[in-house]
Amino acid sequence: MDQTLSVAPPSRRVLGRRRSAGARRGARAVRAAVAAGVLLVLGMWWVSVPSGFAATPADALTSLGELSGMVGAFLICVQVLLIARVPWFETAVGLDKLVSWHRSLGASVLFLVVAHVLFLVFGGELADRNPAWTEFVSILQSYPDMLTALVGTLAFLGVGLSSARLIRARLSYEVWYWLHLTTYVSIYLTFSHQLSGGAHFVSDPWNRVIWIALYLGTASAVLTWRFILPTLDAWRGRMRVVSVVPESEGVNSVWLTGPHIERLGVQAGNFLLFRFFSRGHLGTAHPYSVSAVPANGYLRITVGAIGDHSSRLPLLRPGSLVFAEGPFGRFTADRASRPRILLIAGGAGIGPIRALAEELVRRGGRPVVLYRARSAQRLALLGELQSLPGVQVIPLVGRRSELGYDPLDAEPLRRLIPDLHDWEAFICGPEGMGERAEASLRALRMPKRFIHREELSMS
Ligand SMILES: Cc1cc2nc3c(=O)[nH]c(=O)nc-3n(C[C@H](O)[C@H](O)[C@H](O)COP(=O)(O)OP(=O)(O)OC[C@H]3O[C@@H](n4cnc5c(N)ncnc54)[C@H](O)[C@@H]3O)c2cc1C
Repeated sequence: MDQTLSVAPPSRRVLGRRRSAGARRGARAVRAAVAAGVLLVLGMWWVSVPSGFAATPADALTSLGELSGMVGAFLICVQVLLIARVPWFETAVGLDKLVSWHRSLGASVLFLVVAHVLFLVFGGELADRNPAWTEFVSILQSYPDMLTALVGTLAFLGVGLSSARLIRARLSYEVWYWLHLTTYVSIYLTFSHQLSGGAHFVSDPWNRVIWIALYLGTASAVLTWRFILPTLDAWRGRMRVVSVVPESEGVNSVWLTGPHIERLGVQAGNFLLFRFFSRGHLGTAHPYSVSAVPANGYLRITVGAIGDHSSRLPLLRPGSLVFAEGPFGRFTADRASRPRILLIAGGAGIGPIRALAEELVRRGGRPVVLYRARSAQRLALLGELQSLPGVQVIPLVGRRSELGYDPLDAEPLRRLIPDLHDWEAFICGPEGMGERAEASLRALRMPKRFIHREELSMS
């Protein structure tokens, strides 16, 4: 660790600057579209709000309740659209970022839904001089479709709360996932009350048309891109398991083949959602990155056994049917724009890092791979990485408690590569490792835009 690494700079060929800038523009365009949508909703509210909308505190609260309901309902559609696998969003932003935006929007949406109910109840309480509970019951009884809306809202709140960190950590992925799917039912249940009871839709036919178009558009996008097309694609390109190969302690590679595997357009660093038609696997599709891009009719994933699904992969039989949806992700060599590239891998992150190393070499790069593992027995694919021409692999082995330091802290990294501020980094591994490595690189003055991290979690 104390010797400094000497790396001859590779060609100064810019690897993918244009595409990176394109991706940033794409993300900005999606954000701008969402902001324009919110403005449109504010406009819809404004044109149909009565002139005395804030004449009394009761009116003001009621108006706020209607406004928060409209913006909340719009953002729910946005949340659904973000993860509907709409190709334009995918290309512009990438599924990982879309999932993280979907997650971040969740808290605002929950807040707006709760605010909608509270403002309307308190507004009514002031206007009718009723206690809050009586007013709540009265709203339920006097407006159409309110009971279904109540059930939908409660289900929606349940889903939202299940995603809060503390609760999510206690739920299995499968329970959380199936609970999450009920969001579609909640949206369906809450839709009618907006049109039949919402003042801004009852009084304004244009608002009704826009709202129906929004919901129909969202539903069609979900049906088309989330369910129908992926199922057809997966059926057309159906893959089969060729073999499962143990790589190291708790890590196995699965080789797959399929009639159109090379036409999927999979790049190094991409991941796909795999559904194995085998006992114990059928219930959910799991994301795995490719550790070898399709070549000669074969593709490979490398999986660390951490839970029920990943641990059962060695039991897969050759010939088992596999549906794969994708490719997804922007953790690819296209984002590399500096000549010197550092790849940092840990645990299951070695699959995508190994594929990326190969791709960077193919493009004329000479990446350095820092491979973090608790023990030498866990260094899956090490020999393969070391045999890639032009790749320097530095295993960083040992538990922190044994070493007395973390090899991914800033100082050990600086000792290894003194001019890291001039490099670009791709990091993939457990969340804690990724955070620490990123913090160290930032401390060593590597600009944030040159640090790319792949999260191996989407929940
Ligand atoms: C973009 C991406 C790429 C990945 N690439 C790889 C890879 O190349 N190799 C590898 O070993 N692992 C990879 N993973 C992680 C892998 O998906 C999980 O380890 C695996 O799904 C765990 O499932 P399990 O049932 O064995 O474990 P569990 O104990 O059930 O789950 C452990 C954690 O994995 C996540 N998870 C579980 N099931 C799913 C699912 N169906 N969809 C999304 N997340 C889920 C959840 O965060 C959960 O908390 C990747 C994850 C993502 C998001």
